[in-house]
Amino acid sequence: MPKNPYTLIAIDDQTTAIEEKRLAFQCLCYLLTGKSHALLIDTGFGLGDLAALVKTLTDKPVWVVNTHAHFDHIGNNHRFPRFFLSRAEEEVFQRHTDPAYLWRLSAALIPLPLRLLAHSTLDRIYKPKPLGIKTGIDDGYVFDPGGRSVEVVATPGHSPGSLCLLDRERRPLFTGDTLCDWWVLLNLEFCAAPEVYGASLERLSRLAGAYDRIYPGHHGFPVSRDRLEEYRACVRGILTGTIPLKPRGKGAAAALYASYGEVLIALPADFRRFKSGELPVEGGGIPKKEQ
Ligand SMILES: [Zn+2]
Repeated sequence: MPKNPYTLIAIDDQTTAIEEKRLAFQCLCYLLTGKSHALLIDTGFGLGDLAALVKTLTDKPVWVVNTHAHFDHIGNNHRFPRFFLSRAEEEVFQRHTDPAYLWRLSAALIPLPLRLLAHSTLDRIYKPKPLGIKTGIDDGYVFDPGGRSVEVVATPGHSPGSLCLLDRERRPLFTGDTLCDWWVLLNLEFCAAPEVYGASLERLSRLAGAYDRIYPGHHGFPVSRDRLEEYRACVRGILTGTIPLKPRGKGAAAALYASYGEVLIALPADFRRFKSGELPVEGGGIPKKEQ
């Protein structure tokens, strides 16, 4: 029997962080309860039965909203009757629910020993299975679970349909992989150009008066506001050529890393092709934390 991968961390009396963690896998989901419904932000890798866990926390009907459709954010969607996802994320969603695609992606992303481990996990999780009702949402969509409203803020970059969720009353901002404490990847298939990601960061900066704390999809939380400024500076440095880009990896795993302060942005090795309107290639390595 695999060990329970979940740890609960109370944020306030109606908001709970759910950390899913096993070996190299770590992801953060959040449960926001209202008077009539509960809103679950992301469903992780799917290493355990998240729906059963959520049932112990609320008896309200649960809406799932995914910050984006990468496999480590949608892994437990099938255990819920309904989920919401950006309309701009459809292509990513199709890929990341296709086991054959995930094998190829893991070959580009994960070193061999971990990949063997990941394959047995992914094989168990991503066998095709029926999903619940999917509803496409856009920027400005508001969830009303009763007594609180949670607004969608579109932040393309890490993926075309990446979104943040802003609770205007309680003032947390949930950022998925758009803003994490340590690194942000722009080197995966379908990631947007640094300019697009930079525009999303500028938007989060303009919205700064509307939130007090930042809750990401990975690493620690809450994320310091300093990180937002560092990511903004990092993107500016990439675009102006004032931050050196360090290459790492070979072939499909080749990537460039730009660091500023405590943060790091990974780009595809050929990211300059963005400027001519071409899409990035599949793959790119996972950066190690720089000492
Ligand atoms: Zn992601």
